[in-house]
Formats: sequence, structure tokens, C-alpha cells
Amino acid sequence: MKSILGALLLVLSAGAQAQSVAFTFDDGPRVAQTPLLSPQQRNQALLDALAAQQVSAALFVTCDNGANQPAGYALAQAWGRAGHAVGNHTMTHLDLNSAKVTLAQYQQEITDCDKITSTLPGYQKWFRFTFLREGNTPEKRDGMRAFLKQTGYRNAYVSLDTSDWRLDEKLVQVLEKNPQADLAPIRLAYLSHIRQRALAYRDLSRQLEGRDIPQVILMHHNLINALWLKDAIQQFKDMGWTITTPALAFADPVYQQPPEKSVAGQSLLLSIARSQGLGKFPGWERLVDDGDVEIEALKQQGL
Ligand SMILES: [Zn+2]
Repeated sequence: MKSILGALLLVLSAGAQAQSVAFTFDDGPRVAQTPLLSPQQRNQALLDALAAQQVSAALFVTCDNGANQPAGYALAQAWGRAGHAVGNHTMTHLDLNSAKVTLAQYQQEITDCDKITSTLPGYQKWFRFTFLREGNTPEKRDGMRAFLKQTGYRNAYVSLDTSDWRLDEKLVQVLEKNPQADLAPIRLAYLSHIRQRALAYRDLSRQLEGRDIPQVILMHHNLINALWLKDAIQQFKDMGWTITTPALAFADPVYQQPPEKSVAGQSLLLSIARSQGLGKFPGWERLVDDGDVEIEALKQQGL
């Protein structure tokens, strides 16, 4: 009896502290062609996976990827109509850390994209920095912080950064070479990459914040997620994680304070670590390697 009660208490206490994650997708909707699925099918596959797993997510729109034309606009509308949040990710995805990109130009792109996203269902004044880069100078960083405040925009931070885009590039290359290729190893690499990043960022959260923060995962509006997002969400559930919404996650105190670091960027947790002088903790290389380990393993398998 005693051991059953003990086990039950353990389950209950673990449940109370279950790690949670909110799903966010950048760069969408994309109307460019891919070797499998039409743009409409890819968009629908993402929405179907979210619906099947009862996930309320956020789409960060890069307007020139499609939302600036009727076909792409309809795809973005479908996200809002399905109950997902719709945020801003600039017109053309330029890089604020580039010396060639001015603060004024970057802000204009946000204003222009807002003219489109503000007409969509699910519209939120949430801004996701392209490449998660907040500027190569303190002037740009502080200029953006002031701009977001003035326009009522929230910095939609990412805590759980993934390189799903890198594995997506690999998937597309493999399919372009051989449309009949066996995709099973790429699916496994994708799932294992997400799992590794999830566990590493959970550890980092415990180390920096002394607790499991609600993680905000960054994924992309791409083919690899259209094929296997449902499995990726299931993997989180199998790991005992719960799903939260981006709005609830962003309400956590960790997302209210911009990190002190002079040039912020990448995962918020990495920025906080660097602000605290903890740039190089055990395992940090795997968080900034763009998925090199998984790509190398696929090459060893002849992919
Ligand atoms: Zn992006």
C-alpha cells in the first residue's frame, strides 16, 4: 500500500511540475514549391498535425514569402481561423546584424508586414526577430527595444531554438536527387535533434532560473514539419511534457525582462546565460551547431 501511495504522490508531484512547451512557426506561409506537397497541402498538413494533437500555436509571418499575395494570404488566414496566433516576422527576412541593414529599414519592414498581418484573424502584436538577431550594435538593439515599446509590440522570444530548417534543407536535397529516397533516417534525425535540444534547454532553464520555464519552441513553416510535426508533438507528450499556448508562455516572468547582454540573440536562455557570464557551459556547442551532428550522422548513412 505504502509503495503504491508513494508512487502515486510521485506521479502527482511530477504532474504539478510538468515541463511545458508552446509551439511557434516562423517564415510562413511559404508558397514556394517543394519536392513533395503543394504549398496548400503543406499548410494544411501543419494545421492538421496541430489539430490532431490539440495544440494552439503561433505563426510568425514573413510577408514576402506568400502572405503578400492572395494564395498565401489565404494560407495565413487558415491559421487564424483555426485559432492560432499570427505574429510579425518582417517583409523580406533581412538580418538586423548585417552592417548593410539600417534600423530604419528594419522597422519599415515590420510596419509594412503589420499592414498585412493586422487584417488577419488571430493577429497579435508579437514580433519575432529574424535569425533571432537583435542588432549588431547597441544603437540597433536599443532602437528596436524602443520601437517595439512605442508600437505596442512584444518581443516574441524563443527559448527552445531548433535547427529544423537545416534538416529541412537536407530533406529537400535528398528528394531532389531521388524522389523515391527512403526518408526514415531523416525523420529519426529530426526527432532526435528536437529531443536533444529540448532536454538541453530544459537543463539550461533549471541551471539559470532554478525551475522549468514554459519553453517556447522555434520551428518553421516547411516541408519537414508538414511531414512529421505530429510525431514531434507526440514525442514531447511521450517525454511527459505538456503543451501550453504561446500567450500563456509569454506571460511567464522570464519573457518580460530583456537580457542585459549588449548584443542579444539566439535563444533567450543563451542570452541570459551570456549576460551572466556563462557563455560556455557543458554542452553549449550542441545548441549553436545548426544541427551539424545530425547532418554528419546522415552523411555517414550515405544521405
Ligand atoms: Zn525566420
